[in-house]
Amino acid sequence: QGKRKKAHILFVGLDNSGKSTIINQLKPKKERIPDIVPTVGIGEENFSLGSLDLTAFDMSGQGRYRNLWEHYYSNCDAIIFVLDSTDKLRISVAKEELMQLLRHKEIQRKRNLPVLFFANKSDLRESFSAVKCAQLLELDKGEWVKGGSPMYRGDPHSGLGRPWHICASNAHTGEGLNEGIQWITEQLL
Ligand code: GDP
Repeated sequence: QGKRKKAHILFVGLDNSGKSTIINQLKPKKERIPDIVPTVGIGEENFSLGSLDLTAFDMSGQGRYRNLWEHYYSNCDAIIFVLDSTDKLRISVAKEELMQLLRHKEIQRKRNLPVLFFANKSDLRESFSAVKCAQLLELDKGEWVKGGSPMYRGDPHSGLGRPWHICASNAHTGEGLNEGIQWITEQLL
């Protein structure tokens, strides 16, 4: 008779970062799709995960769909940002994407909206560690906060001005996903 909570979670990140694979891995085994096709536009999935009843929106990272994202911002409870930790060239593009998202007025209004990062594809030899990815995204820097309050500097959980957490993940085996989902569950319950 545990607490259950309905939550709308946005999965964002550039194309090819592993969003669809992660969502598929999180779903109950019988609902998984063996072959994932790249997401175009926005895919919506409903499933339960531990004590959460999730609606997951897979937001394609392809720029031309970006104008669709805003409609989902106003009623989301958490953001999962998926990063291809092997894609050194596009990490700065991902950072721009994240910055645009977090500066949106609907997201700014939700001051405690938690953001979970998956530094995905951690199984590949050339991947950056979660700590390195956090550094590359400059998650602990005050510039994330509108107005750049210096009081956030140096606090590893407050650079974004909201709760955040990063874990390395392998979407194929599921390694690392539980840790992240556990964190987000704690934020939501
Ligand atoms: P999306 O565009 O963000 O939805 O990305 P997909 O889920 O379609 O994944 C893009 C590609 O990366 C696919 O070929 C996946 O099989 C692969 N992929 C996703 N996650 C991982 C991972 O953790 N490790 C490895 N090696 N490949 C992954």
